Amino acid sequence: MPKTALDAPQVISMLQEVCQAIIAAEPLLTDADRALGDGDHGLGMQRGMTAALEKLGALDPESTGIDKAFSTLGMAMMSTMGGASGALFGTLFRNGGKAIAGNSHFGTAELAELLKVGLEGVMSRGGAKPGDKTMIDALHPAAEKALEEAAAGSPFAEAINAVAAAGEAGRDASENLIATMGRAKTLGEKSLGKPDAGACSVAIILRTMAEFSAK
Ligand code: ADP
Ligand code: MG
Repeated sequence: MPKTALDAPQVISMLQEVCQAIIAAEPLLTDADRALGDGDHGLGMQRGMTAALEKLGALDPESTGIDKAFSTLGMAMMSTMGGASGALFGTLFRNGGKAIAGNSHFGTAELAELLKVGLEGVMSRGGAKPGDKTMIDALHPAAEKALEEAAAGSPFAEAINAVAAAGEAGRDASENLIATMGRAKTLGEKSLGKPDAGACSVAIILRTMAEFSAK
């Protein structure tokens, strides 16, 4: 049965599935960063998500707020990953989580708020804009779609599925961008034809959230 909104124990379970999906995607993320960067993105994400799994597992699902579940993921990534993406993905989930503090359920409105505030945090911390060929190129269209779905009052499982599709389309479109931020920028036009590694991670995270919500 598609879920209408997630309570805190469900959010924790969803994020544990996200961690597992990223850990399993390590080879793909490594290849993506090897093509355009220094090749450490897969192992960095794997390290962050392994630490996060442990921290999420230590939370008491009955007394943890949904905001705390997301910020726990963010803090674990920030403190264990290093590199650009540790700070940036950490900011996404920590800031995004804080923005939904006090809400008991994670539904379409919370998804939109989390992505909007998370995206703002990543943009102000990293200085990249849409089109620079970074994780923003998956995150920005996903956040825009989430705001649209929230304004339309879409049911949660449907909304998060549309958001994941927007993230995947953004990841795919990043293939046709020339990198102007991050390590790939030194490649110039040679960065064409491959997706950005961080955008691949964003797409996997959102798709895993959508799959959890559809069950
Ligand atoms: P590093 O670049 O330090 O090796 P990672 O390999 O873990 O870090 O992550 C690389 C990813 O981080 C890139 O694919 C890109 O999506 C993202 N990234 C790098 N710099 C920025 C930035 N300034 N703003 C947004 N995202 C960035
Ligand atoms: Mg790297």
